[in-house]
Amino acid sequence: MTIGIINGHLIDPASGISARRDILIKGGTIARIGESLRGSENIDAAGCIVAPGLVDLHVHFREPGNESKETIATGSCAAAHGGFTSVVTMPNTNPPIDDAGTLELVIRRAQETACIKIWPSACATKERAGKEMTEMAELKAVGAIAVTDDGSDISSSWVMRRVLEYADMCGLTFLAHCEDSSLVSDGVMNEGFNSTCLGMPGMPRAMEEIMVERNIRLAAMAGARIHIQHVTTADSVDIIRRAKARGIRVTCETAPHYFTLTDDAVRSFDTNTKMNPPLREQSDIDAIKEGLADGTIDCIATDHAPHAFTEKDVEFQLAPFGIVGLETALALVISELVRPGVITIERAVELLTSAPANILALPAGSLREGGPADIVVFDPAAEWVVDPEEFASKSRNTPFAGRKVFGAVRATICAGKMVYKTKNLG
Ligand SMILES: [Zn+2]
Repeated sequence: MTIGIINGHLIDPASGISARRDILIKGGTIARIGESLRGSENIDAAGCIVAPGLVDLHVHFREPGNESKETIATGSCAAAHGGFTSVVTMPNTNPPIDDAGTLELVIRRAQETACIKIWPSACATKERAGKEMTEMAELKAVGAIAVTDDGSDISSSWVMRRVLEYADMCGLTFLAHCEDSSLVSDGVMNEGFNSTCLGMPGMPRAMEEIMVERNIRLAAMAGARIHIQHVTTADSVDIIRRAKARGIRVTCETAPHYFTLTDDAVRSFDTNTKMNPPLREQSDIDAIKEGLADGTIDCIATDHAPHAFTEKDVEFQLAPFGIVGLETALALVISELVRPGVITIERAVELLTSAPANILALPAGSLREGGPADIVVFDPAAEWVVDPEEFASKSRNTPFAGRKVFGAVRATICAGKMVYKTKNLG
């Protein structure tokens, strides 16, 4: 049996194609890409863009330990709903993924329950305590795709230097959550005009920028690669731009909420506007957009962080940090970046496919004959309203409920299997 994806506009940044093409899928792989192809079954993608399945370098699936918020199974369904076929899971679960046994458990759960491809990262230090390094060589052998203590930074520069050296020696990229928590311990939002008005403890931009600068300098000393997670400030973008110009092997990501919302959104006291790092100001959004357009920011990741309604339904200061993002990411990229002309649709697809895949050398993010049939079909012009009740995620914590957006996923195919499909697809 062959499946044809026909009449669509194919965008594959890895091969530079942006043109009308049909795809023929056989088994789990792409058999052919060309014109006037037909399968024994066909998906009519007229009016749609056909692209590599999206790749997200930053998701929290909460398994093991917090399965009421999300599991690998429900998280993978949310990913498929959002057009993603490859995601990198963070290791700040309970227990944290800091040894081979826990990592093996996650890999087994992913094989048994996930409908898309799960690439687990593992902790860089034991218990994510920032003191003792994990057995990275062993974690790599078991299947870790990267190492990170995401959720917090490694406060000791001495430990960080050793982590970067050892990770590089093991062929693992370190994913850096940049935050100097010694500067402020109780911040809940961006430090600025709004935090002053609201009387809330702030998180200054310097908390992030100090560690972006430090971590890049330590990576340069170690001769190691480093990937900076969730960049939110104008100066962080500037620091990274200058480091790249000096030839330092640094890459970085930002998340859709950081180019969509400012900390004005916190004035609603909606705890779904609370995340770490926090929403910043318009000047930061402008710099992030510039960084996405000029290549300083390499990719877009969601930082999908599910929390139960009851946990978020508390006073702002008590609520946990984080929002879900897999099911709104593509639409926010199209609505906030492509339609206003900040970037082209081709660059948007690159930021969500080949660019993140290249950072961790994932076998994903491109469309080629003989390659994996991981494909998303989406209508860039379709308008819809975000309704958290329609999410496949177990959690509903989004600040975008009720927001009108453009760009709807019509079908997601992973390893040749249809893992998501809308009703109105031919
Ligand atoms: Zn983080």
